[in-house]
Amino acid sequence: NDNQPFVEEVCINDIINSHSTPFYLYSQKIIKDTFNNLKKNLSGEILYAVKANSNQSILKLLKNCGAGADVVSVGELERCINAGFDSNKIIFEGVGKSEEDIEFAIKQNIKLINVESFDELTLINNIGKKMNKKIKIGIRLNPDIDSHTLEKISTGNKTDKFGIELNQLDKIILQIKSSPNVSLDGISCHIGSQIHNINTFKKVFETMKKTASLILSKKINLKYVDLGGGFGVNYEENQNEFDIKGLGELIKSIFSNEPYEISFEPGRYLVAKAGILITKILTLKQNGGINFLITDAGMQTFLRPAMYHASHKILPFNQIGKKTTYTIAGPICESSDIIIKDIKLPYQTKDNFLIICDVGAYGSVMSSNYN
Ligand code: PLP
Repeated sequence: NDNQPFVEEVCINDIINSHSTPFYLYSQKIIKDTFNNLKKNLSGEILYAVKANSNQSILKLLKNCGAGADVVSVGELERCINAGFDSNKIIFEGVGKSEEDIEFAIKQNIKLINVESFDELTLINNIGKKMNKKIKIGIRLNPDIDSHTLEKISTGNKTDKFGIELNQLDKIILQIKSSPNVSLDGISCHIGSQIHNINTFKKVFETMKKTASLILSKKINLKYVDLGGGFGVNYEENQNEFDIKGLGELIKSIFSNEPYEISFEPGRYLVAKAGILITKILTLKQNGGINFLITDAGMQTFLRPAMYHASHKILPFNQIGKKTTYTIAGPICESSDIIIKDIKLPYQTKDNFLIICDVGAYGSVMSSNYN
């Protein structure tokens, strides 16, 4: 039947009865194709932002494609090691790292630990002294550039908690110069997620180039400039895809013969479109004139709608029947547990299945034990 939904060659109907719902299902092909296209267009290392989806098979797949990794916790770092990532291609960032986290990362000989505060620099230098090692660090900068994205996923304004402000650069370099157990090898920045406008990246890239030149002029052998992730994904139908080709051209026009390696930290862009979530309708009910479909997936399975008011396309398995307006809600005891409001679907009944689309990024990783 032509109307049956497939993921690659797998007919979802064929597996739905042997798996309990809700479950995530991923396409390797989409991840591979997206990675290869990104690699073709961007001249630089791609360090997959593991936070978007740390599924062990996805990590292995991306590692086999040639990706490095950007991790923000020891848990993510362990997963990358298990997946076989070359430790030389792993960077560790995050605004709060414990002494144990840093020690663990140092023992793995990773590419860089990105420092986000003066206190953290002191801590890393002290740990380096204790271990009798020189630790390779980067500075995560806060360039104070508005990403024009949702407030909850903006990270590059000076009032955000992330990075070190540019006007504190001289001060942190002074501290680095008097810290014998660290060497400044890189700088990085990431101003937010879901950025669609190339001009926003232009501002970031120009600022990073200027900052790198300034650091090089101080006789510091800067090896890496990491330009972050945040490449936008369109969750709605009929919207333009993010202009990766344009981004690639922009990079070439700004960075030509620089003495450092360029890298990126995309998460969402690589995996968002590769995942779907299959859920079963548990109950139909009417309250206040609203037709609720209560599904077994909810905010415990997929948090983005409740947390960010994200809207995801829904595909019904049952295509016949009169179009009806529904609000789809999860089973959790919270009124915010709504997947989508007011969508039109063919008439649905209890035990029908629905597909929530484009959930590969920030989907299963944000699921919880709630309720
Ligand atoms: N790098 C850092 C430091 C981040 O905080 C994030 C996301 O929050 C990313 C990379 C990945 O962002 P995205 O998934 O939008 O590409």
